[in-house]
Amino acid sequence: MERKDYQVIAGPCSAESEEQVVQTALAIKDIGGVDYYRAGIWKPRTNPGGYEGPGVKGLSWLLQAKKASGLKTATEVATAKHVEDALNFEVDLLWIGARTTVNPFSVQQLADTLRGTDATVYIKNPVNPDLKLWVGAVERILKAGITKVGLIHRGFSQYGNSRFRNEPLWQIPIEMKRLFPDIPMICDPSHIVGKRDGLFEVLQTSIDLDYNGAIIETHLDPNSALTDKDQQIEPLALKAGLEQLVWKKNSLDTPQYSIELDGLRKQINVHDEQLIHLIRNRMNIAEEIGRLKKDNQVTVLQNNRWNEVLDKAVLLGTSLDLSEDFIRHMMELLHLESIRLQNSLQKVEQQIH
Ligand code: PEP
Ligand code: MN
Repeated sequence: MERKDYQVIAGPCSAESEEQVVQTALAIKDIGGVDYYRAGIWKPRTNPGGYEGPGVKGLSWLLQAKKASGLKTATEVATAKHVEDALNFEVDLLWIGARTTVNPFSVQQLADTLRGTDATVYIKNPVNPDLKLWVGAVERILKAGITKVGLIHRGFSQYGNSRFRNEPLWQIPIEMKRLFPDIPMICDPSHIVGKRDGLFEVLQTSIDLDYNGAIIETHLDPNSALTDKDQQIEPLALKAGLEQLVWKKNSLDTPQYSIELDGLRKQINVHDEQLIHLIRNRMNIAEEIGRLKKDNQVTVLQNNRWNEVLDKAVLLGTSLDLSEDFIRHMMELLHLESIRLQNSLQKVEQQIH
């Protein structure tokens, strides 16, 4: 990815007043490098009583901002009426929010309204880590004949503490990129990180993963913002952050690079093969244990033993500079597969007897 192919969407979380919408657009235009100006017109709030956006009157502010700054505009739509209103006010990019992507009824209603228009539609990942819902939403929009489609990775909500507001779970957008290689994927670090610090580290990770753009919440005075004030940044901070990003090419054709890369990839392939054989051997032993447990009528799950296995793996893994999270996930997967094999063994033997 080189900067020239990269699109940046910036602007406040919410449209708050005519003056704020127009002045922010001009300030964002001034820093350069931004393609679309975003402002939330209808805000989905978790609790009632918060600021829910200006509604239709905000669309005329957005149109004024577009005319004054020359920037294209973008906003979130969640109902058929939102789509009609936004298109009437010449909004250039509509995005489907994370709370809407989860609902196939709503997505279908949007798709039916969009049919026959040449709208540009970006689809945020659903709030929950459900790849199929995201895929389904994209398919509904594509089936309505919309061709200018994009994906927005805004992270996934979770219960409990995390350093992120929404966990990035990079494996999910990576799989989406594999399934839809021709659809651009952009990163929304604001909703992933949830605060000002660390936005550009997440954005850099997305650039290293060959993303095609970013959507970043930008406010003239973040501390006084009516929504998402902890994560919005000033236009000059946006400029500084964008300037410090390191742009990567997605391929290089020099012979020396290709030979070196090929050699390393071959080694990776050998290791992957060895890993799978090793895992199969581990499962053979798990099956033997399963047989022993069955003969002695002992339960498959043994919590003490599982804790011991997990602790040992985490200790060794972290001492080798592998992350605790990774080791835990990997061990959980291995454990689940062992249990599956041990259970199916018990079932087969029940059928034989
Ligand atoms: C937003 O972009 O302001 C927003 C509400 O995003 P999400 O749908 O990702 O929560
Ligand atoms: Mn927001």
